Amino acid sequence: MTSTITKHHDVVVVGGGQAGLALGYFLAQQGRDFTILEAAGEPAAAWRERWDSLALFTSARYDALPGLAFPGAPNRYPTRDEVADYLTDYARRFELPVELGSRVRSIHRAGHGYVLELDDRTYEAEQVVVATGPFQEPFVPPIAERLDEGVVQMHSTGYRSPESVPDGRVLVVGGGNTGFQIAEELSASREVHLAIGSRQTPLPQRILGRDLFWYLDATGLIRKTTASRVGKLMRKREDTLIGSSPRRARRHGIELHGRAVGATGSTVTFADGADLDVRGVIWATGFRVDHSWIDVPVFDENGRAVHDRGVTASPGLYFLGQLWQHTRGSALLGWVKDDAAYIAERVGAFRSRPLPTEIAGAKR
Ligand SMILES: Cc1cc2nc3c(=O)[nH]c(=O)nc-3n(C[C@H](O)[C@H](O)[C@H](O)COP(=O)(O)OP(=O)(O)OC[C@H]3O[C@@H](n4cnc5c(N)ncnc54)[C@H](O)[C@@H]3O)c2cc1C
Repeated sequence: MTSTITKHHDVVVVGGGQAGLALGYFLAQQGRDFTILEAAGEPAAAWRERWDSLALFTSARYDALPGLAFPGAPNRYPTRDEVADYLTDYARRFELPVELGSRVRSIHRAGHGYVLELDDRTYEAEQVVVATGPFQEPFVPPIAERLDEGVVQMHSTGYRSPESVPDGRVLVVGGGNTGFQIAEELSASREVHLAIGSRQTPLPQRILGRDLFWYLDATGLIRKTTASRVGKLMRKREDTLIGSSPRRARRHGIELHGRAVGATGSTVTFADGADLDVRGVIWATGFRVDHSWIDVPVFDENGRAVHDRGVTASPGLYFLGQLWQHTRGSALLGWVKDDAAYIAERVGAFRSRPLPTEIAGAKR
């Protein structure tokens, strides 16, 4: 469709999840002219896509965006729906200009700023912040295609509750928090197997009565930067199981396997050569980031955004909310505010940057 309307803002934020909203809070405080473009038709879309029984691994104390405490007792673990309600209320309370149903199809440079194309309109902005989330495109390994149509398969984003899965033997593929939690939920009503491609270090959710994140916060580990020695070490072992473990899974009667490496008919084969006949498969195999719609040369050969704490080499273009954008907390509810405050500061500085001397001289 050809764009007919062109709108102008100083800053356009793409994505209205927690990262976009946290940034919006600071931009509103600066009194800046901005808008937040959100593809989904309702707020907190990413959280609403997650399974029904999801409980956060961070306690309410560590789930607040800037300026608004997360409601309820600080030591409890809120549900998916509570997060969706909190984010919805957050946008309303701070009157953040979120435009729902507004997917940005492309971004390119033009003049001194950027042009953002939507299906029905175009935006021009001096500065753009991409806050489209660390978990975008559901990833399913190619072996999925070799399973029969009779086997019910879904990515974890398609899983809602045990009712979404047929009776009979189910295989969950993926040894991260999502795989373990879904397998555990299903194990109450059927035979469940879990394929673990790479083992993640299990950590207890509470240690000596305190939340794991209390320790990460108190020791400063959550704020160690990607560039620091400790940060690099943490990043290498970033994937940790919080509250789940192989031992706990076995207690629930879940049978553990190695990596799922092949499939044919209704049979899945594992790295050790063993195979298993299944009725259903849940692919808890993660996500890929897709920035192919951003036509600005700020990506490396693998399509990863090149930036320094979210600031790219293209003046006025930023990222926010990426995994390890700056610290372990960068993509978490309770800590995204640190990066949001920093990007907001850079956005402010960009506007107040003195003109190059030749231009400033010519104006006088
Ligand atoms: C299963 C799961 C459990 C998690 N549990 C926790 C937890 O307990 N505690 C915690 O702190 N963190 C948790 N996280 C991590 C993190 O908090 C969430 O992933 C969070 O949703 C990230 O927020 P975000 O705003 O960066 O991205 P998102 O929430 O993904 O928001 C990005 C938004 O951008 C929109 N968008 C995308 N592309 C476009 C486009 N082209 N144009 C316009 N809009 C677009 C999307 O519709 C979306 O609404 C969890 C993540 C997962 C996957």
